[in-house]
Amino acid sequence: MTEIRLYMFDGGITHLPLRNFTFGKGGGGEMITTPTPYFVITHPRGNAIIDGGNPPEVAVDAAKHWGPITEMSTPVMRPEQALLPSLERVGIDPASIRWVVQTHLHLDHTGAVAVIDRLPNAEVLVTRTEHEFAHAPDPLARISYVLADYAKPGVPWALLEDAEDGYDVYGDGTLIGWRSPGHSPGHMSFEVNLPSGETYLLCGDAANARDHWDNGALPGFMVSASDTARSLSRLKRLAWRRDAIVVTGHDPGLWDEFKRAPEFYS
Ligand SMILES: [Zn+2]
Repeated sequence: MTEIRLYMFDGGITHLPLRNFTFGKGGGGEMITTPTPYFVITHPRGNAIIDGGNPPEVAVDAAKHWGPITEMSTPVMRPEQALLPSLERVGIDPASIRWVVQTHLHLDHTGAVAVIDRLPNAEVLVTRTEHEFAHAPDPLARISYVLADYAKPGVPWALLEDAEDGYDVYGDGTLIGWRSPGHSPGHMSFEVNLPSGETYLLCGDAANARDHWDNGALPGFMVSASDTARSLSRLKRLAWRRDAIVVTGHDPGLWDEFKRAPEFYS
């Protein structure tokens, strides 16, 4: 019987202008280096990937796959940091993946849907709002979406309606999706409840960094500042309810404090 575990994977780093990461900072052209984490939950009823990091092409030729955003942001990723070799290293069979759940569909979160043909038993769970926006993004947001990863035939989408907020993926409280729009229109954050009694709140990009969480500093990229602020206050209430350990989306310092696969939380 598979145990319920939470694995955290290191999907590489990105060098990007600070002004794109924290609103109102980096006016002097300062850069910041951020991690690209992704997560796997093992569960007796089938395993789940959360986001999957960058697609494997980014380790080969990022400019070719990502296009003009690489003129500002430089990803540094080794081939073995991609999803499939990482699963193999930990001994997780791709056929055991039942769900790919998406915080959102930005280019550094689509590493699993990009290789969906290698995950034969997985459905891709994302909000209908994010799915629709990602297929026809507004001009200002366009640069953050790489349609080649997901706008293709044969993706087994499972689309969540707005009314399905607080969606309990396994029905046992292990993995719960909460709407947290603002960074992107259909963003979700995930609450992970482990057998130990510990709760992890995987904020995704609804809270990019500890700065954003602690001080309410807004991230540098948003489709709605007011939704971003409301989602942060919501996530803080959710974290308080369960006394959760908060995992922000791309915080360089905080990320170093967590155990990485093959170590895990259970
Ligand atoms: Zn994002």
